[in-house]
Amino acid sequence: KTSPSVALIIGVTGIVGNSLADILPLSDTPGGPWKVYGVARRPRPAWSEDHPVEYIQLDVYNAKETQSKLSPLTDITHIFWTTWANRPTEAECCQVNGAMLQNVIDAVLPNAPNLSHICIQTGHKHYIGPFETFGKIKPHETPFIEDVPRLDVPNFYYTLEDITLETCKKKEGLTWSVHRPAVIFGFSPYSMMNLIGSLCVYAAICKHENVPFTYPGTKGAWNCYSVASDADLIAEHQIWASVDPYAKNEAYNCSNGDLFKWKSLWKVLAEQFDLEYVEFDENQDYVSLAERMKDKGPVWDEIVKQNKLTPTKLEEVATFWFADVIFSGECMLDSMSKSKEHGFLGFRDTTKSLLSVVGKMKAHKIVP
Ligand code: NDP
Repeated sequence: KTSPSVALIIGVTGIVGNSLADILPLSDTPGGPWKVYGVARRPRPAWSEDHPVEYIQLDVYNAKETQSKLSPLTDITHIFWTTWANRPTEAECCQVNGAMLQNVIDAVLPNAPNLSHICIQTGHKHYIGPFETFGKIKPHETPFIEDVPRLDVPNFYYTLEDITLETCKKKEGLTWSVHRPAVIFGFSPYSMMNLIGSLCVYAAICKHENVPFTYPGTKGAWNCYSVASDADLIAEHQIWASVDPYAKNEAYNCSNGDLFKWKSLWKVLAEQFDLEYVEFDENQDYVSLAERMKDKGPVWDEIVKQNKLTPTKLEEVATFWFADVIFSGECMLDSMSKSKEHGFLGFRDTTKSLLSVVGKMKAHKIVP
């Protein structure tokens, strides 16, 4: 029996790609039943083996390999773009990320006659600017709304949008959607930016070394109202935009729909690792998490061994630099009004989202 909907997830082991791989194959997922192809460069990890997904090991930056592995997949109906590449400058990011997307489109568009939707994941940096201009240019006014003009700096998010819209002009009936999450709470030991995963690892190291679980950030980030985006919610949002005719051809913010403070979540995190809650201390010297953790590779190896965890390396499971970025200043809020007006009423309680990620980290034996 052929499926009416066939998804190609680029970045299937990433923080949202993994949620898509979890949710798309479910029997009650809108637009289903879905057949799912999933692409990533590394071999399929054990923690993704339960998903009924055809796993394709491929580097989409390699045009030739992308042609040879994706052009035979003539049944693809939907592309979910949940990957990215980091480079030293944003100009290089534009070039590389643009080439990756173009390679996939060049392999799929001429060969998959039923291709109907391209879903692109970007993020809040659409409104703030890329990492290299943080603190140097004025971001958009908060709460971010979708339909503001672009900032006048290179941004690979803009490149991805341009390529997608150009592609949709070439084929009648081909639609697109762009999804702009805030910081993502999700499960993926392979993600290049995983805040909660990194904090779980930090907590496990504090526990192991019997040192206080102190918050490694600024007072602003500790005290302010923050927003986050649950990875499963983003997947639901992307699936909604892919199948609901009233959602298509639009860019949307995608956050949980509640507000939280890190000072409250820190308590929840501490409890999960049986650690004492430590209040933010203004008199303590600031030392970034990346700095604090820079020599902890062997400690992590010891924790993995002692607790018989899934074998991982510290640099793989923790992206401490990203926690430092998130905790460097007040969170910028976004608006979910546009999604609601177009019919997406999904939401997540952020505390429960955090607990769900910690639960998955423990269930897959990534942390003790
Ligand atoms: P992740 O880093 O979590 O996942 C990336 C995925 O892509 C992995 O499966 C990775 O596996 C795969 N991948 C990377 N390079 C290639 C390649 N060349 N060919 C094939 N597969 C590849 O991605 P995110 O979901 O974090 O990022 C997607 C977008 O979301 C980005 O634009 C990011 O800026 C944005 N965003 C992310 C946030 C976050 O908190 N993570 C917050 C807001 C926005 P492998 O390495 O094995 O190839």
